[in-house]
Amino acid sequence: MSEINITLPDNSVKTMPISTTSQQVADSIGSRLAHAVVVAKIDGNLIDLNSPLDKDCSLQLFTGDTPEGHDTLLHSTAHLMAQAVKELFPSAKVTIGPTIENGFFYDFDVDVPFSDEVLAKIEQKMKELAKLGQNIVRKEISSKDAIDLFDNMGESYKVEIVSQLDPQEVISAYTQSNFTDLCRGPHVSNTSKIKYFKLLSTSGAYWRGDEKNKMLQRIYGTVFASKDALKTHLHNLEEAKKRDHRKLGKELQIFAFDEEVGPGLPLWLPNGTAMIEALEQLAKESERKSGYSQVRTPHLTKGALYEKSGHLEHYKDSMYPAMDIDGTDYYVKPMNCPHHHKIYAAIPKSYRDLPVRFSEYGTCYRYEKSGQLFGLMRVRSLQMNDAHIYCTKEQFKKEFLAVCNMYLSYFEIFGIEKYSMRLSLHDKEGLGKKYVNEPKLWLETEQWVREALQEGELDFVEVQGEAAFYGPKIDVQVWSAIGKEFTLATNQVDFAIPEKFNLTYTDENGNDQTPLCIHRAPLGTHERFIGFLIEHFGGNFPLWLAPIQIAVLPISDKVIDYANEVTQELRDAGLRVKLSDRSDKIGLKIRQAELEKINVMLVVGEREATEKTVSVRRRFEGDQGVIALSILKNQLFDEIKQRRLSHSQETEAATE
Ligand SMILES: [Zn+2]
Ligand SMILES: [Zn+2]
Repeated sequence: MSEINITLPDNSVKTMPISTTSQQVADSIGSRLAHAVVVAKIDGNLIDLNSPLDKDCSLQLFTGDTPEGHDTLLHSTAHLMAQAVKELFPSAKVTIGPTIENGFFYDFDVDVPFSDEVLAKIEQKMKELAKLGQNIVRKEISSKDAIDLFDNMGESYKVEIVSQLDPQEVISAYTQSNFTDLCRGPHVSNTSKIKYFKLLSTSGAYWRGDEKNKMLQRIYGTVFASKDALKTHLHNLEEAKKRDHRKLGKELQIFAFDEEVGPGLPLWLPNGTAMIEALEQLAKESERKSGYSQVRTPHLTKGALYEKSGHLEHYKDSMYPAMDIDGTDYYVKPMNCPHHHKIYAAIPKSYRDLPVRFSEYGTCYRYEKSGQLFGLMRVRSLQMNDAHIYCTKEQFKKEFLAVCNMYLSYFEIFGIEKYSMRLSLHDKEGLGKKYVNEPKLWLETEQWVREALQEGELDFVEVQGEAAFYGPKIDVQVWSAIGKEFTLATNQVDFAIPEKFNLTYTDENGNDQTPLCIHRAPLGTHERFIGFLIEHFGGNFPLWLAPIQIAVLPISDKVIDYANEVTQELRDAGLRVKLSDRSDKIGLKIRQAELEKINVMLVVGEREATEKTVSVRRRFEGDQGVIALSILKNQLFDEIKQRRLSHSQETEAATE
């Protein structure tokens, strides 16, 4: 038994001496891997690279650019930061330092808040400590020994943490040189593996998040496996700040909030309203092509309808209180579904009528706690790209796939390159409680959805036990151009509600059958989607979506009549045009139009007036030459009709 067999992910087996470490296995594979590997997984459990392997096992090695490896790097860097803080400020007390998405933080109890200069010093110290090549050593100790250890070091917060653990629990601690921290691990084996890090900011934070406790100093930082990855991340953070929809939405006059209207109730300014119109046109166009019918429903509804739909039972906390109208409770609607079901029921249906697809940009009102409100992302009034599809079981898969394809076509239009779908399934234990008790139907529909996604070649993951009460659902996640993640929409199968609403169709034999229902909202809500688009495009919208598409810029007052003529002709053609008729210099007018991110600038002087032409400037593309107005109009029409994403390179160029 002096040798063990180690099975690698490609199923090859390495025979190595017992007590070989994962690092040694990596060394035996190649120097590049040996260098880049940060953590290992043995039989499914993550462990440190220098833990000895004592039996036959399967081994996976992770470099710092994998999720497992990155988390290990983040963790290890948080410890390195704590070590640096202790070296510079020996009286500082360490508390906790978890990892977060693409980063970590650590809270310290110090006498004086950290300044930016101090942050730079800490980062410098971290670089020195990393270069020392300190081995990071794991040790398991009893909780009593841990309490003694941290008590001797004066680390009262650590003592408090350990004291609250089960005294029988074995605790792991990680030591590098004279710095020891409590941690489950795993960690990188040596500080020299930590190279590309950056401390980002500091803030105050109460111990355990409780304002009755002492205010601590938190430092945020990040680390990546390569210089490029770190650079990209820092660039994206800067971009994200510039593109924040709350900031940019205000600058571009897209929306506003007003205290007297109320929190979470956005006002759409003319620019935002133009975008909404463009989005609704897109939705209506693709829904018309896909055989949807438009419907409209009232904002107010009797409570009885929401009792029937189950909203009052399950969703009341998110609804606004009832208002008494002539002795009957009425609610503002939190969802459009029940109304669409009623529209289905309004006219009897036969199998020949199915599938039926009703769509509506329906306005809903949902109660979000004021602390939860966030720009356009979390609001109290929302306009949803809603639709309900009623179909037979046989039609289901095709319908579901068509919805998925609609998502894909939208992603293409908006240049959304990264997206993923999460298929939420039921679990058996929840049947009859958390989930409608239809075991066969669950398995069937889940399989249909799965197959539809596979046929659509959509990237998806499956999660057990996350389905809606009435059927499986898909959550759609998208990433903006700068890598920020958004949940856009859910796509849900519903096999319970049609029965509750007594929705039927007559089949070929004249018998009543219950249809299935699909809820879908590919463009989410106007609020969230426009918030996303502002950040995705950084305000540089493609022509079809731009609030103001064209600025007409007369060189002097002499040509104001012609400028008016051009403006009117373009407006008559349905374009969104602004005439800059103040007597400013032309250079200033161009700069102003660029600040407003107007896509097309038409400069008109005396020559243009005589020749009935315009001198065209495109944002990011500069001078495009002189062109007859009629030809330009056709070019712009074409660009708008195809919803061309012509400025995608421009966006990049603008952010360089
Ligand atoms: Zn740790
Ligand atoms: Zn619905």
